Amino acid sequence: MASEAPKGRLAGKNAMVTGAAGGIGLQTTILFVREGARVLMADISGPALEKAVGTVTKLYPNAITPMSTICDVSNEDSVAEAVGKLDEFGGLDVIFNNAGIMHADDADAVETPERIWDMTFSINVKGVWFGSKHAVLALRKHKKTKGSIINVASVVALVGSATPQLAYTASKGAVLAMTRELAVVHAKEGYRFNSLCPAPLNTPLLQDWLGDDAEKRKRREIHFPTGRFGEPIEQAQGVLFLASDESSFVNGTDFVIDGGMSKAYITAE
Ligand code: NAD
Repeated sequence: MASEAPKGRLAGKNAMVTGAAGGIGLQTTILFVREGARVLMADISGPALEKAVGTVTKLYPNAITPMSTICDVSNEDSVAEAVGKLDEFGGLDVIFNNAGIMHADDADAVETPERIWDMTFSINVKGVWFGSKHAVLALRKHKKTKGSIINVASVVALVGSATPQLAYTASKGAVLAMTRELAVVHAKEGYRFNSLCPAPLNTPLLQDWLGDDAEKRKRREIHFPTGRFGEPIEQAQGVLFLASDESSFVNGTDFVIDGGMSKAYITAE
């Protein structure tokens, strides 16, 4: 007898996405919802969140309506409260620790203000730690035998960036190291931890920073074998794989989605 058709690659899973109103976060939420997950969209910006929820529900009106919550990932209580919102639905199965900043005043060793360093680390590193910590606590609380935690790093954690953004680069290196250790420590519990390493993308985070500076833009574009930046949806496809049981033996990886950028040796024209 034919079995019932699966209802999606994430059917039955509860997932939290941080920075869900932004480029990668929103595209990932859209895919998660399409694939049957109950998604909690978390972001520090209320208005952006409201708009993002509207976008998702318009695309998939018949899917499980995403929940949303204002959350500052650099504040542990805020993260704990957000994760707890999935308790009544059986608890979190997946967390995408995606929220991150790259500050316009981030610069080289001499020029980066300490305040910018601390702010960057609070969000990009402590935020990922808090998300990982409360994911583990929730998975244990609900006696889950599997869970997937995906933490966003960057290719700048793998290759030296010629244009300085020292606090950002160091913060993403910390995400890689932290995620690797978490992957090893929690593997026997069935909790997988992987890092996502995106290359520069067409999202507000980078595009606002590049602005109208054509020279600054060209310096980056030239490093892509494809000659173009990536799109957030191309990251989201990778996150979907890491979140789903299809990646059940993928753990502790630096999952690179960069169009070959970090493997290329390209000389200027
Ligand atoms: P984005 O700026 O489009 O979205 C980031 C979202 O995070 C925004 O909605 C913002 O409101 C939210 N946010 C900021 N601070 C927060 C906080 N303290 N708590 C909760 N939410 C907060 O960024 P994006 O391009 O989608 O980037 C997402 C992740 O991918 C970031 O960690 C970024 O470092 C990483 N990344 C981006 C690129 C790129 O080129 N865009 C490349 C490599 C890595």
